[in-house]
Amino acid sequence: MKKRVYLIDIDGTVCDDIKNEDSHLYPIAKPYEGSKEEINKLYDEGNKIVFFTAREHKDKGTTLAWLWRHGFKFHDLITDKPRCSEDEEYVWIDNKPIRGITYKGEWGPIVENKNQEVETLLNFKK
Ligand SMILES: [Mg+2]
Repeated sequence: MKKRVYLIDIDGTVCDDIKNEDSHLYPIAKPYEGSKEEINKLYDEGNKIVFFTAREHKDKGTTLAWLWRHGFKFHDLITDKPRCSEDEEYVWIDNKPIRGITYKGEWGPIVENKNQEVETLLNFKK
Protein backbone atom coordinates (compact mmCIF):
# COMPACT_ATOMS: atom_id res chain seq x y z
CA MET A 1 0.00 0.00 0.00
CA LYS A 2 1.10 3.56 -0.72
CA LYS A 3 2.63 5.36 2.25
CA ARG A 4 0.51 8.19 3.51
CA VAL A 5 0.95 11.63 4.93
CA TYR A 6 -1.46 11.84 7.84
CA LEU A 7 -2.55 15.32 8.86
CA ILE A 8 -4.00 14.87 12.31
CA ASP A 9 -5.95 17.39 14.34
CA ILE A 10 -5.21 17.62 18.06
CA ASP A 11 -8.02 19.18 20.14
CA GLY A 12 -11.09 16.99 20.20
CA THR A 13 -9.35 14.38 18.05
CA VAL A 14 -6.40 13.02 20.03
CA CYS A 15 -7.16 14.74 23.36
CA ASP A 16 -9.65 16.89 25.25
CA ASP A 17 -11.17 19.60 23.05
CA ILE A 18 -9.51 22.76 24.33
CA LYS A 19 -10.36 26.05 22.65
CA ASN A 20 -7.65 28.53 21.72
CA GLU A 21 -9.08 30.92 24.30
CA ASP A 22 -8.25 28.34 27.02
CA SER A 23 -4.70 27.69 25.85
CA HIS A 24 -3.47 27.72 29.48
CA LEU A 25 -5.12 24.27 29.74
CA TYR A 26 -3.04 22.68 26.93
CA PRO A 27 -0.45 21.22 29.31
CA ILE A 28 -3.12 19.28 31.23
CA ALA A 29 -5.13 18.00 28.25
CA LYS A 30 -5.98 14.32 28.59
CA PRO A 31 -5.12 12.10 25.60
CA TYR A 32 -8.02 10.04 24.23
CA GLU A 33 -7.73 6.32 24.82
CA GLY A 34 -6.12 4.55 21.89
CA SER A 35 -5.07 7.70 20.01
CA LYS A 36 -1.36 7.38 20.74
CA GLU A 37 -1.33 3.65 19.99
CA GLU A 38 -3.03 4.02 16.59
CA ILE A 39 -0.94 7.01 15.55
CA ASN A 40 2.30 5.37 16.64
CA LYS A 41 1.33 2.27 14.66
CA LEU A 42 0.87 4.38 11.52
CA TYR A 43 4.26 5.97 12.18
CA ASP A 44 5.94 2.59 12.67
CA GLU A 45 4.43 1.40 9.38
CA GLY A 46 6.40 4.12 7.61
CA ASN A 47 3.75 6.78 7.16
CA LYS A 48 4.40 10.45 7.77
CA ILE A 49 2.61 11.83 10.82
CA VAL A 50 1.97 15.57 10.90
CA PHE A 51 -0.18 17.18 13.55
CA PHE A 52 -2.17 20.01 11.95
CA THR A 53 -3.84 22.16 14.54
CA ALA A 54 -5.64 25.48 14.92
CA ARG A 55 -3.54 26.10 18.01
CA GLU A 56 -1.53 29.26 17.57
CA HIS A 57 2.17 29.44 16.81
CA LYS A 58 2.78 30.93 20.27
CA ASP A 59 1.62 27.59 21.74
CA LYS A 60 3.84 25.41 19.54
CA GLY A 61 6.43 24.77 22.25
CA THR A 62 3.80 23.78 24.80
CA THR A 63 2.14 21.50 22.25
CA LEU A 64 5.40 19.82 21.21
CA ALA A 65 6.25 19.21 24.87
CA TRP A 66 2.79 17.70 25.44
CA LEU A 67 3.09 15.38 22.42
CA TRP A 68 6.54 14.21 23.49
CA ARG A 69 5.52 13.79 27.13
CA HIS A 70 2.59 11.59 26.13
CA GLY A 71 4.69 9.44 23.79
CA PHE A 72 3.26 10.39 20.39
CA LYS A 73 5.56 9.60 17.46
CA PHE A 74 5.39 12.22 14.71
CA HIS A 75 7.40 14.06 12.09
CA ASP A 76 6.04 17.58 12.32
CA LEU A 77 3.56 19.92 13.95
CA ILE A 78 1.85 22.63 11.92
CA THR A 79 -0.03 25.31 13.85
CA ASP A 80 -2.48 28.03 12.81
CA LYS A 81 -4.83 25.81 10.79
CA PRO A 82 -7.89 27.95 9.99
CA ARG A 83 -10.50 27.46 12.72
CA CYS A 84 -13.73 25.70 11.81
CA SER A 85 -16.87 26.45 13.83
CA GLU A 86 -19.63 23.95 14.67
CA ASP A 87 -21.70 25.03 11.65
CA GLU A 88 -18.79 24.76 9.20
CA GLU A 89 -16.79 21.86 7.79
CA TYR A 90 -13.35 21.47 6.25
CA VAL A 91 -13.06 20.86 2.52
CA TRP A 92 -9.63 20.34 1.04
CA ILE A 93 -9.03 20.65 -2.72
CA ASP A 94 -5.74 19.30 -4.06
CA ASN A 95 -4.25 17.70 -7.19
CA LYS A 96 -3.12 14.75 -5.05
CA PRO A 97 -5.51 12.08 -3.76
CA ILE A 98 -7.15 12.93 -0.45
CA ARG A 99 -8.78 10.63 2.03
CA GLY A 100 -10.59 11.87 5.09
CA ILE A 101 -11.65 10.57 8.43
CA THR A 102 -14.00 12.42 10.73
CA TYR A 103 -13.19 11.47 14.30
CA LYS A 104 -16.42 10.41 15.98
CA GLY A 105 -15.34 9.70 19.50
CA GLU A 106 -13.51 6.41 19.34
CA TRP A 107 -10.04 5.44 18.16
CA GLY A 108 -9.44 2.10 16.50
CA PRO A 109 -7.70 0.56 13.51
CA ILE A 110 -8.34 2.42 10.26
CA VAL A 111 -10.25 0.46 7.62
CA GLU A 112 -10.84 1.15 3.94
CA ASN A 113 -14.33 1.83 2.59
CA LYS A 114 -13.63 1.33 -1.10
CA ASN A 115 -17.25 1.72 -2.23
CA GLN A 116 -17.51 5.30 -1.10
CA GLU A 117 -16.29 7.57 -3.87
CA VAL A 118 -16.44 11.09 -2.58
CA GLU A 119 -17.26 11.17 1.08
CA THR A 120 -15.19 9.71 3.85
CA LEU A 121 -12.92 7.08 2.34
CA LEU A 122 -11.47 5.82 5.56
CA ASN A 123 -13.13 4.97 8.80
CA PHE A 124 -12.28 3.81 12.24
CA LYS A 125 -13.21 0.18 12.71
CA LYS A 126 -16.06 -0.18 15.20
MG1 LIG B 1 -10.26 19.85 16.76
